Amino acid sequence: MNYILKIKEKCIVCTDDTPYMRYTHTGSRECYVNGAGQLCKKCWIEIYSDKDELRVGTSLSSHTQPAIA
Ligand SMILES: [Zn+2]
Repeated sequence: MNYILKIKEKCIVCTDDTPYMRYTHTGSRECYVNGAGQLCKKCWIEIYSDKDELRVGTSLSSHTQPAIA
């Protein structure tokens, strides 16, 4: 076993563990910023929540009110 592959990426902002292992391809991660590094979801939301191009899922769209028929 190559135990070093089990190291989790840490958030570059708060240094908390992220859900991603180091070997996880950056293209298949959420909250990864090209040129910067891996963020945890909390920091990602803090930094990017004012942007439209969120790609962390629709659960963040709490401002979108459900249509009432
Ligand atoms: Zn963080």
